Amino acid sequence: MQTSENNQQLQERRSPVDDSVTWAGTWATQEQVACAVEQANASFESWSRTTLESRIAYVKKYASFLQANRAAIARTITLESGKPLWESDLEIQSAIAKVDNSIDAIHKRRWTTSEGAGSSFSAIRYKPLGMMVVLGPYNLPLHLPGAHIVPALLAGNTVLFKPSEKAPAVGAWIARAWQSTTAPQGVLECIHGVVDQARWAVGAAATAGVLFTGSYAAGKQLHQQLAGRPECLLALEMGGNNPMVVDRIKSRQAAIAMIIQSAYITSGQRCTCARRLIVVKHPENAGFLEELSRSVAKIHVGNPLSERQPFMGPLVSSQAAESIVAAQEELKAHGAAVLNEAKADVACRAMLTPGLLLLTDQSMSDREHFGPLLTASMAEDLDEAIEVANRTQYGLAAGLLSDDPSAYQLFASRVRAGIINWNSPTTGASGKLPFGGTAASGNHRPSGYFAADYCSYPVASIENLELKTPSNLPPGLQEIF
Ligand code: NAD
Repeated sequence: MQTSENNQQLQERRSPVDDSVTWAGTWATQEQVACAVEQANASFESWSRTTLESRIAYVKKYASFLQANRAAIARTITLESGKPLWESDLEIQSAIAKVDNSIDAIHKRRWTTSEGAGSSFSAIRYKPLGMMVVLGPYNLPLHLPGAHIVPALLAGNTVLFKPSEKAPAVGAWIARAWQSTTAPQGVLECIHGVVDQARWAVGAAATAGVLFTGSYAAGKQLHQQLAGRPECLLALEMGGNNPMVVDRIKSRQAAIAMIIQSAYITSGQRCTCARRLIVVKHPENAGFLEELSRSVAKIHVGNPLSERQPFMGPLVSSQAAESIVAAQEELKAHGAAVLNEAKADVACRAMLTPGLLLLTDQSMSDREHFGPLLTASMAEDLDEAIEVANRTQYGLAAGLLSDDPSAYQLFASRVRAGIINWNSPTTGASGKLPFGGTAASGNHRPSGYFAADYCSYPVASIENLELKTPSNLPPGLQEIF
């Protein structure tokens, strides 16, 4: 066991925007993780017995704190993730809305039902699982951990939360927001760290569930770590290699606006970002890619804190930017033509211009390039476009741009993805809908509005108000009673 006496190095998170230190501290030792597990587990019994109404009051206080500290939290999100302030503010808005949506969901999806007549009933009630480990990603470091934490707490679970090591200061805001509610100690524990800390928490015998948002590679390792523990719930929200198909469209301008928002919002660091554009070769689509490329070249990329807000800020780190440039080089080596080059800024190495490449080789490796890099290809017809769209191990989001409802019917029925949008960005999501993917994008425990489902288990009861000898006893017993 790694103890507190072990040499604990001071960790610093530096901003991709201006290299300032956003957070400094030490990663939790194994001892500290065990202590946090114990606290959260010990608090479960009493927290699970509180009324739903009182838990609702606590999560509403959590939302009020986010609202009251909106400007400061937005600045922290921007400094740690690189996204522009307008987008950080939208993230806080989503995190706040998540509270009301989760309250609505627990009422609508986890209600107690009792059916029957006279004195006999059949009932369904829901119970929390226990202590849940929540592992957060860096790209929406406030909203996505909250999307697991809030439904889990509402359902009566306690939570041990480890924020992304790339967004520890935003994680600290979540912990502070929960502290402000004056909820009993141990209901939400926050530990800082990297993979080790996550693995220690997941491996604890008391862990009843793991709610994860992150990459497929990490999700797979969690699945392997929990092999042989079927009693531990695992909800995996993972990555995607999302297609967007352009079919028959009247408004090119609208299509280009949808594509740009799908591919380049958050500098391409959203799980639902469009990665593969597939244009159907209708005569009216001639020259479409050239026009798209001209618009992409005009996207405002810049300092995310500046008064004149850009659409795209820097990526989370210069290493993340380098990996996108390396992916671009690999695609070029396989014959891709560069329509717009993803190029690092001289002064801020984490900042990239948006990349757009025209593929010639459709058999390129199926990897998620988590940054502003969109590949494009042409398809003979919609059937071929759908076939290409499905050429991925992932199944998170897909989009169709088309004025033809029958094309959408075909697309929606044949494309394999958990989110299928029509004439809307692939990144468009509603708090009233489930959010999650199939195949390598998730393990069929969608989050969003459906998070309420995996935060509790149903208890089925057959109930009789009176204890009576049954009138329909089976043969062999009738003589006795
Ligand atoms: P990541 O997988 O590197 O890290 C996510 C979290 O898991 C972090 O807290 C990290 O410390 C922890 N972690 C990493 N490896 C682990 C392991 N082996 N065992 C236990 N914990 C581990 O992801 P990221 O880089 O922060 O986020 C980007 C990825 O997340 C992308 O792949 C993106 O598509 C995905 N994502 C998915 C969704 C979704 O809802 N489907 C939403 C946002 C991001």
